[in-house]
Amino acid sequence: VKQKIAALKNDEKFISFEFFPPKTEAGFRNLYARLQRMLALNPLFVTVTWGAGGSTSEKSLDLAATCQKELGLTTILHLTCTNTNKEIIDKALARAKENGISNILALRGDPPRAEEYWTPNCDFNYAVDLVRYIKEQYGDYFCVGVAGYPEGHVDGLDNTLQDPQKDLPYLLEKVEAGADFIITQLFYDVDKFISYENLLRSVPQLKEIALIPGLMPVTTFKVFTRATRLSHATIPSDILTKFERIGADDDQVKELGVQVLTNIISTINQRTEGRIKGYHFYTLNLEKAVASVVEHSSVLLPILNATASNPARDNDDAIA
Ligand code: FAD
Repeated sequence: VKQKIAALKNDEKFISFEFFPPKTEAGFRNLYARLQRMLALNPLFVTVTWGAGGSTSEKSLDLAATCQKELGLTTILHLTCTNTNKEIIDKALARAKENGISNILALRGDPPRAEEYWTPNCDFNYAVDLVRYIKEQYGDYFCVGVAGYPEGHVDGLDNTLQDPQKDLPYLLEKVEAGADFIITQLFYDVDKFISYENLLRSVPQLKEIALIPGLMPVTTFKVFTRATRLSHATIPSDILTKFERIGADDDQVKELGVQVLTNIISTINQRTEGRIKGYHFYTLNLEKAVASVVEHSSVLLPILNATASNPARDNDDAIA
């Protein structure tokens, strides 16, 4: 992934997609068909999520292998390192390599829901431990990415400690341990992302690293408010007011969602003077919402035009 980003021409942009492994065989088949169509959007890479504690390990590995080997997509496997054991991690890394996957998003993971306090285990306490472990075990075979939080990371429910400045030394630690790129938590407050980019670029070791903003298209008002609550993302009041006014009308919500995201993308593109090369979409395994954003974004449209065909899309029903 690092090489692919470095190989982009000066003003060339990219998009990338996150998928989660469906629970059922039928869901897997639906997603496979959707993925084939989404190739037409020309993503630079796709990522596959990892269930907390390795709960989806088999399905995540199957989906990642399918993306990499069968669909020929550059694939990043997410991997979490706490609330799990080394065996699961070793197996995941070995199987990733066997299947030609050479990119890992190294994450800490969250504590089990029932636990009130975070008690790290002895092998891996933080994502940096996983970055180090991958580098120790595999040298430079894996290109490693890590997570960044434009509004600051929150542990548990106490968002009073949410402060990107607080996370900065630990982000730097992850990069110094060998991380090659950063994908951010989703956000809707573009000013917060711009400040975050400035904050990172003020650190010499983070000046050049690929910072990839994470964006979640808006499908329904309910999903939107739930996703922002879970990820502790602020919704700027002007955006919230607009959504609240039309909350029950899904078509209007989608339309407004496209406007909000295309505005975020063009603002980032302008205010970071082109330093941001690509945009990562949390697709929720949906196709149309992402495609609409790309089609309506003057920054991203050239990516779409660069592809040969633009096949029909399905109805974007949720995948089980
Ligand atoms: P870390 O980088 O370890 O940071 C966690 C917290 O600890 C931060 O507050 C940091 O400031 C602090 N910290 C770090 N090092 C130290 C230290 N040495 N001393 C004290 N404090 C320290 N979760 C999943 O379960 N599966 C997924 O597939 C998944 N994908 C994700 C993808 C992206 C792009 C993002 C942004 C998040 C994803 N998550 C996923 C969620 C992630 O696991 C949680 O946000 C988790 O709480 C933190 O992970 P991290 O890798 O950022 O942790």
